[in-house]
Amino acid sequence: MERTLSIIKPDGVSRGLMGEIVKRFENNNIRIIAMKLVRMTKSQAEGFYAVHKERPFFGSLTDFMSSGPALVMVLEGENVIAKNRELMGATNYKDAAEGTIRRDFANDIEKNVVHGSDAPETAAVEISYFFNQFEIVG
Ligand code: UDP
Repeated sequence: MERTLSIIKPDGVSRGLMGEIVKRFENNNIRIIAMKLVRMTKSQAEGFYAVHKERPFFGSLTDFMSSGPALVMVLEGENVIAKNRELMGATNYKDAAEGTIRRDFANDIEKNVVHGSDAPETAAVEISYFFNQFEIVG
């Protein structure tokens, strides 16, 4: 069993995509074991995306991520890190495969609707960035 952090980014929440995306997780045998809406401050968004701090898009990305509520979730399942990345599609919606969340809903490389951890180590760090042990129904 594996765990990963999923975020429906502020664009996904404001466009009313929460239900549709949660449904895709449920339909794919992924268990949601924690869930909450968060409104990140600029500095919380900077902390979350610290690995990208030297990238040219860092300022804009962290403005966007702190621009409104986001839905953060812990997902659990077999190979859920890869499975979630597959459901999400490529970072750039233009490269995302047919039927993926980003292909179906994104139209901007930055405002691309969802985030998903990319490896077990980052998943552990990202989950604990948002949730304590009492908020996760294991
Ligand atoms: N991003 C961007 N411009 C780029 C690359 C990435 O605005 O050229 C944003 C986009 O929102 C992406 C996030 O930065 O989801 C993190 O980038 P990463 O390469 O980690 O992609 P992800 O893991 O989200 O697919």
